[in-house]
Amino acid sequence: MIQALLNYQSADAKLKKIEKTLAESEDRKKAVSAKKYLEGVEENVNKLDDRAGELIATYEQATSEQIKLKEQQAVIEESLNSAEDEKEVAFLIKKVDELIAKIKSLGAKANKILAEIQAVIKDYTSIKNTTKVAQTQYKEGLEKYNQLKESVREEKEAVEKELNDLKGKVDPELMERYLKKRAGKIYPVVYKVRGNVCGACNMELPMSELNKLKGGAVIDCDQCGRLLYQD
Ligand SMILES: [Zn+2]
Repeated sequence: MIQALLNYQSADAKLKKIEKTLAESEDRKKAVSAKKYLEGVEENVNKLDDRAGELIATYEQATSEQIKLKEQQAVIEESLNSAEDEKEVAFLIKKVDELIAKIKSLGAKANKILAEIQAVIKDYTSIKNTTKVAQTQYKEGLEKYNQLKESVREEKEAVEKELNDLKGKVDPELMERYLKKRAGKIYPVVYKVRGNVCGACNMELPMSELNKLKGGAVIDCDQCGRLLYQD
């Protein structure tokens, strides 16, 4: 019973090797990382859009406030021309000074916002450029990876056919256990027990499990998850 599975496993090594070649392809890695970047770009651009909107609104508020204050300044300066009372003149001059200080501080605020807007524009440009690079990287990586896939396609199909034939000879319940572990990236899946320890990870097996092995059962190693058998 176990021999059929061992035959399957040994043919499966060829499939594992092909899968490894594909998974370790640098072109595939490049394409995957470029795709990940491109997926995040939209969110980043939306954030920048929001930020730009906020900045423009604050800038407009500061400049319109500035215009209002300048109008007030002009009105007070006008009345200064006709003021005669000393106290009134002093009061009006104080008012004008206050307004000038406020206007100046609004000007500084507007300049600061302009600098932030420039920074947002710079970020846009940089995202635009890196997006172009990522698009090229994705396209090239994918093309080369597809070429690699195509170059192993026939070999892979032949191995898969061989495995499919061998599968028919294995006990279905055992095959299912094997394939489940194999899908979880374990390979080789089946090991022979060595004395009373797992042949793969050396964990000592409990007596109850060893008894099952003696009865011809295939057991699971609790530590490494492999399937164990005894001759
Ligand atoms: Zn083990």
